[in-house]
Amino acid sequence: MTIDDSFAFSCNLCGNCCRWDAGGGVSDNLLSGADIIKMAAHLGMTPGAFAGRYGCAVYDPALKLRVIKLKKNPDGSCILLREGRCIAYPARPRTCALFPLVRGYSFALDDGGLASIAEEYFSLSSPAPAHECGCDKLLRVREWLEQNGAPISDEADRRWYTKLWRHYTQAIDIPLSDELLNLAFNDLYKFIY
Ligand code: SF4
Repeated sequence: MTIDDSFAFSCNLCGNCCRWDAGGGVSDNLLSGADIIKMAAHLGMTPGAFAGRYGCAVYDPALKLRVIKLKKNPDGSCILLREGRCIAYPARPRTCALFPLVRGYSFALDDGGLASIAEEYFSLSSPAPAHECGCDKLLRVREWLEQNGAPISDEADRRWYTKLWRHYTQAIDIPLSDELLNLAFNDLYKFIY
């Protein structure tokens, strides 16, 4: 979807978007450097302390990188969910602010390398369009972003995912040693420590 497309969604405040499979451990909520800095400031912590307490560095086989994800409680809920509320809501990660939308980036190449980056959106609410699922709320992507304080063009996000993409494309050709993984990890997160 583009910024001007519509999707169907009705929030009934169930909070299930903050709960995942039970079992404890680590969620799939990947944090960018900007997410960590913002949430840490909101909670009055240093980024390093925030990442150490609420985050967990895991190897993501899809990205071929070690990334920081939010931890989850044994009941499957997000570590930041307390009595049904997010303790970092005003500074929640971009993934949460966009839900049920997912923002991805497509990268166009030319002979000189990376030529352009474009945002694209996917909806996790299904089925769409609205009239097929009986949901009467049809929302435009642009309005949803504005309502949830998510910038339409997010420079920090673009830089972050461009860096991830560069590491990822390099990783396809280069055998990934522990040393290379550590370098990639440090490069991505070094500015938060
Ligand atoms: S960070 Fe907040 S909004 Fe996001 S899943 Fe955790 S509790 Fe929910």
